[in-house]
Amino acid sequence: MPDAGGQSHKTDVIIIGGGPVGLFAVFELGLLGLAAHVVDILDRPGGQCAELYPEKAILDIPSRMKVNGQELTNDLMAQIAPFKPIFHFQQMAEKIERLDNSHWRMVTDIGTVIEAPVVVIAGGGGSFMPKKPKLERLEEFEGKSLFYAVRKMEQFRGKNVLIAGGGDSALDWTVNLNPVVAGMSLVHRRNEFRGVQATVDQMYALVKEGKVNLAIGDILRMNGENGQLRSVTLKSSEKGEFDVPCDAMLAFYGLTMKLGPIADWGINLENNRVPVSTESFETSTPGIFCIGDMCSYPGKLKLILSGFHESALMAHACFHYARPNQKLRFEHTTSSSAIQAKLGVS
Ligand SMILES: Cc1cc2nc3c(=O)[nH]c(=O)nc-3n(C[C@H](O)[C@H](O)[C@H](O)COP(=O)(O)OP(=O)(O)OC[C@H]3O[C@@H](n4cnc5c(N)ncnc54)[C@H](O)[C@@H]3O)c2cc1C
Repeated sequence: MPDAGGQSHKTDVIIIGGGPVGLFAVFELGLLGLAAHVVDILDRPGGQCAELYPEKAILDIPSRMKVNGQELTNDLMAQIAPFKPIFHFQQMAEKIERLDNSHWRMVTDIGTVIEAPVVVIAGGGGSFMPKKPKLERLEEFEGKSLFYAVRKMEQFRGKNVLIAGGGDSALDWTVNLNPVVAGMSLVHRRNEFRGVQATVDQMYALVKEGKVNLAIGDILRMNGENGQLRSVTLKSSEKGEFDVPCDAMLAFYGLTMKLGPIADWGINLENNRVPVSTESFETSTPGIFCIGDMCSYPGKLKLILSGFHESALMAHACFHYARPNQKLRFEHTTSSSAIQAKLGVS
């Protein structure tokens, strides 16, 4: 479940982005004894691997003959578990400011505050943002009765909810929110769904039980006043125009990637990417690092294995900010009993 936001935390490193590179950064930092909090706008880890190609085979991860995007994410999560990273999903890293003690204070769009001596941007192709329906009056309803994600299920308790879309998110929330809502409609432009078959079957079972009103048609307009939806007008070739009553709408039309708030943080950018030193992966701003698809340097390849290499060098450079009075000793995992103890391997 997403955290509710509004809490304050202190840690060694704030990682922005929970894609494969942000996840492996947790591991490399953990080997050096540094703790991390990870912020991602998505509702789960894995970045592009989990969101864009969870079932496609990746063939160029060293020593993995074949691994799909979701398996790689699951394995990275298992590998970093001993370091107990704290995840803040469904939150946009929105602002950062430098404090008097030269640490960074990062605030998310729902008010989570994290302070740390180091920020690592592992933002990939940018933050995943919802694709919005092409309808008039969107802004009037957004955030009041029109939403693109479920942050707290409680928010929808007792409401008459309309879910729009035909993919996994639309189907998952049709099934998961059903027990808390007073009424539910699922709206899609055709009676074919792109989700996991088991969830499609669950949805049709709810329709049969009368717990979901399945409405097929194109959404023409939203009706309501002062930000409060009353109904949505649909059009289909069979029924013509008709209204579906609702007092909250969840639109799941897929995601697109945008640089987002990182563009406003005063860091040098070149073509929407962040130039870094290839020794440390530090940006033009001391204490802010960038790794993975979002960083740029001569010869950069947007590959997962490049991001893994960048994580290791970044972690060694970060150590000096996070532990200014300690000396860093380079150790191999094969021979360090301290690392083996941290990982629970004897
Ligand atoms: C179809 C496809 C196939 C691919 N196949 C391969 C392959 O075979 N081999 C290979 O090595 N690579 C492959 N890639 C590329 C690979 O997926 C990327 O190199 C890799 O995902 C980069 O990892 P990352 O962690 O840097 O970024 P991402 O995976 O993009 O993750 C970045 C995360 O940061 C989050 N984020 C960004 N900004 C913010 C913010 N302000 N607040 C909160 N969250 C934020 C995003 O939501 C995202 O989850 C493929 C890519 C695609 C699209």
